Amino acid sequence: MNEYINRVLESVKAKNSHEPEYLQAVKEVLCSVEHLVEKHPEYEKLAILERMVEPERVISFRVPWINDNGEVIVNRGFRIQFSSLIGPYKGGLRFHPTVNQSIMKFLGFEQIFKNALTGLPIGGGKGGSDFDPKGKSDSEIMRFCQSFMTELYRHIGQDVDVPAGDIGVGGREIGYLFGQYKRIRDAYEGGVLTGKSICYGGSLGRTEATGYGLVFYTREMLKAHGNSLQGKIVTISGSGNVAIYACEKAQEYGAKVVAMSDSNGCIYDPHGIDLALIKQIKEVERGRIKEYLVKHPNADYIERTSEDSPIWNIKTDIALPCATQNELTLNSAKKLVENGVIAVAEGANMPCTQEATDYLLENKILVAPAKAANAGGVATSAIEMTQNSMRYYYTFDEVIEKLDCIMVNIFNACKDNAEKYGCAGNYVAGANLAAFEKLAEAMKCQGVV
Ligand code: NDP
Repeated sequence: MNEYINRVLESVKAKNSHEPEYLQAVKEVLCSVEHLVEKHPEYEKLAILERMVEPERVISFRVPWINDNGEVIVNRGFRIQFSSLIGPYKGGLRFHPTVNQSIMKFLGFEQIFKNALTGLPIGGGKGGSDFDPKGKSDSEIMRFCQSFMTELYRHIGQDVDVPAGDIGVGGREIGYLFGQYKRIRDAYEGGVLTGKSICYGGSLGRTEATGYGLVFYTREMLKAHGNSLQGKIVTISGSGNVAIYACEKAQEYGAKVVAMSDSNGCIYDPHGIDLALIKQIKEVERGRIKEYLVKHPNADYIERTSEDSPIWNIKTDIALPCATQNELTLNSAKKLVENGVIAVAEGANMPCTQEATDYLLENKILVAPAKAANAGGVATSAIEMTQNSMRYYYTFDEVIEKLDCIMVNIFNACKDNAEKYGCAGNYVAGANLAAFEKLAEAMKCQGVV
């Protein structure tokens, strides 16, 4: 490997040895930009790599709140302001018990490249808390969100840092966060958060954007290889925001989605998933996916019993991991290949382990990398910010048309860069190369900051 890249990687390892997800994300990017770094010897002199892997700011704070039993609970909040090179920090908030600094930094790092790929003026950030929303009452969620924002508000603003949703943070949480921000600032800054409800400044199409965008990217990737979604069998992990709308668009394109999951297990319905029922269970009742069997007793439910999710054992043409990081392991990748998969498109952030991605690529499986394939969510968040600034709204069709166009451009950037640097068909490398070059050029223009 290139000596400069190696040296930076060693230094990142030494400084962040307790942050495995962050190291994984950095290694994945740096190892794929070797040709670019060799083409630009000035990167070393200007410490481009060193600056790229060091967040501009890491914020961690206490979030005390009172539960329904009157007990005081203390959670930890984070905001990683990774890079403001090409716009205000932008990236979601995650509420999940696994949240820690390593996960926040890996997500923030991925976000800067993803946002660069959208072609829109947004920098990269990420935040969240180790708060677990599962089983909490609505008033507990509200009190937690209010306490979280009482600390976060001083770090954000519509031209500074614009958070959105992620795992555990949907329209309800964004509403409570926005209400508290507005109350503290005593001003209506519509563009300070995205993923808002339509009734107070949200964008039509934002809810659907990440899942739809993933399928638009997959459509382009298949098209480039003379194939399409029509008639394909699809399995989708997760049953949250990304998974549900990926399923909706895949079904519209004539694919048959046969399995979806949550963290406890997966359902397999060979007749095709009843998406209206999944929406009712997950979006309305906030229940478990197992409840699908009440209305469809002939479907199968497979409990998760190990690190490897059972969903990847099901025979499929296209796999869409849309749950969480490192959910698709080497074992799962082997099983997918054995069962004849043709494409894996990442809806979640870093859902495939590095070994799984390598194995899929070695076996000539088409891999759509998360930072490109799931960029439709943040791109539509940027469209929401645009509408808030204009004080004007686009129709649903206008938003989806813009989203489609952005996803086509992102796919083309991945394809062109993979070809330019001698790895045609490797869209994982193509995405990293396209985004890295753009950010490095911006860094060169702005001097040593
Ligand atoms: P949601 O909270 O709406 O849904 C998450 C889904 O993943 C749930 O079905 C959940 O199951 C499952 N899940 C979460 N953690 C685990 C775990 N440790 N093991 C197995 N399953 C798990 O989140 P989103 O759909 O918004 O996000 C999903 C992924 O997509 C994340 O990686 C996120 O970062 C990424 N993403 C989201 C975007 C968006 O616009 N929402 C934009 C770009 C990326 P359970 O209910 O059992 O926890």
